[in-house]
Amino acid sequence: MNMHPLRKSHYMQYRRCPKAFEFSYIIKPDVAYRRSSAADVGTEFHTRAQFMFDKFDVEVAMSLANENVPQYIRSLMPDSTDELDKMFWNFAKHEARRFTFGKQTGYTVDDMRKYFIPIAQELEIDWEGMKIPLKGHVDRIDRMKRTNCYCVTEYKTSKQLKIPELRQEVGFYANILNNTDYLDMPVNYWSVYDPRIDQYHLERFSPMTLRAVDNGLNRLFNKIADGGPFPRKVTPLCLWCSFDDECLYGDDEIEMQRLPSELIKKKENKEFSGSKTKV
Ligand code: SF4
Repeated sequence: MNMHPLRKSHYMQYRRCPKAFEFSYIIKPDVAYRRSSAADVGTEFHTRAQFMFDKFDVEVAMSLANENVPQYIRSLMPDSTDELDKMFWNFAKHEARRFTFGKQTGYTVDDMRKYFIPIAQELEIDWEGMKIPLKGHVDRIDRMKRTNCYCVTEYKTSKQLKIPELRQEVGFYANILNNTDYLDMPVNYWSVYDPRIDQYHLERFSPMTLRAVDNGLNRLFNKIADGGPFPRKVTPLCLWCSFDDECLYGDDEIEMQRLPSELIKKKENKEFSGSKTKV
């Protein structure tokens, strides 16, 4: 079977709801994908974070007093709306903390170029070594000092970091990076930074995490080979699902009481207006 590449978003979608995965990866109905303003804010943040490092001058920053480094970093990002301005400031302060830590530890200008500036940003990666080719887009990769390895970083602009879920997401990237020759040392760490809530988390990958990602992918490949239908996971997230019309208001039966009340109302309205095939 010649399958198109599986992205991290597909894998995470399968974990959240196998039916949504079936729609997005296999059935691909012609639907208008829902895009939130929060997603636009996230995209803008990613772009600006990348440009900030492209413009960052290590020698200038080294010449500044520690308390002026956040202002310098913020000046490398544009004026913006209140929401993004707060995120840019949080990011500037977070990166200034990293920079100041390096300076106080005795990093030279060369060390800063090597360990403060990411070695890659917004990197497209792929690997054809599994049953289905994997594809991903890594936000950022940093070289770790002393430990001879790399750290893969995700930016999130949510209101809460879900660490167990994120561990699987970045494990997907480590799986590709550690089996290809994009990097000359292994990815042994991962981190996540959320500028909305100014939270940072860093940890070493455990062999168990990487094995769990591998097993999860193999289970998914087997399920794809076995064919559908894939089970629904009805949760409040259905309210934001782009496939709700196809999934919940199609021809087949779905028990009303399993739906969140907002979806029941939507279903009843559709039946009343006759805008969809009657369930
Ligand atoms: S509407 Fe809900 S159950 Fe159906 S595909 Fe979307 S998330 Fe899954």
